[in-house]
Amino acid sequence: RPLVSLSGVSKVFSNGTTALQNMTMDIRQGEFISLLGPSGCGKSTVLRIIAGLGDPSSGTIDWPTSGHDASGKALPEISFVFQEPTLMPWATVFKNVWLPLRLKGISKQEAHDRVMEALEMVGLAKFADAYPRELSGGMKMRVSIARALVTRPKILLMDEPFAALDEITRFKLNNDLLHLWEKFGWTVVFVTHSVFESVYLSNRIVVMAARPGRVVNDMRVDAPYPRE
Ligand code: ADP
Ligand code: ADP
Repeated sequence: RPLVSLSGVSKVFSNGTTALQNMTMDIRQGEFISLLGPSGCGKSTVLRIIAGLGDPSSGTIDWPTSGHDASGKALPEISFVFQEPTLMPWATVFKNVWLPLRLKGISKQEAHDRVMEALEMVGLAKFADAYPRELSGGMKMRVSIARALVTRPKILLMDEPFAALDEITRFKLNNDLLHLWEKFGWTVVFVTHSVFESVYLSNRIVVMAARPGRVVNDMRVDAPYPRE
């Protein structure tokens, strides 16, 4: 079963803009999907719909493997990573990563273990007690990835996560992300303008066009470049 299933999804805003037209896509466990296309092609709209943050105007979205709340509404198990790491400056790295667990009411010991495990994954366990201002841009981004992973989401949604970083840091983070994905088998939907990133990182590229936002190609790309 797919983790997410979109069928004929369209989104028309009240001003008449068709942000997304007739998108059909299943997302399966372990896929690293890039959504590649120009500004305004509906990439953010797709992410919001996948996250359950906006209903389609027509068509259906389903999360076949997710639980439901008391009223029967699906609870997509999804985390976001944004371009801006949005860490709380007054809280340590540990506290920043721990916050999503506190909101879920997980026990103290379990939360501690999970935070350290997430920081371990991104190579920042030693920086648990540091404050965000003490970290480089790339390290802040890695904290923000740890914070997204700490709830063990089924899908990680990344909205142009590295666009604000300098090119060398960006290249390093691309490699880090790729290694983490290969090691832990996450399912990722990665929004980018960069053909380079989409080809280097993903095993599936969904190419989109604007006005109206729509899918023009959906292809498998299995590691065309050798990886060390
Ligand atoms: P992308 O993320 O690819 O840049 P978006 O999903 O943000 O594209 O937007 C797709 C289209 O929908 C754009 O033309 C955008 O201007 C329009 N749009 C996005 N949000 C709204 C909104 N709340 N009201 C009206 N139009 C919107
Ligand atoms: P960026 O990803 O922004 O390029 P780096 O990962 O190069 O940042 O980290 C910036 C500095 O922090 C470097 O001096 C690096 O050696 C140090 N650093 C980064 N990660 C760790 C780590 N896990 N343990 C020790 N030092 C680290």
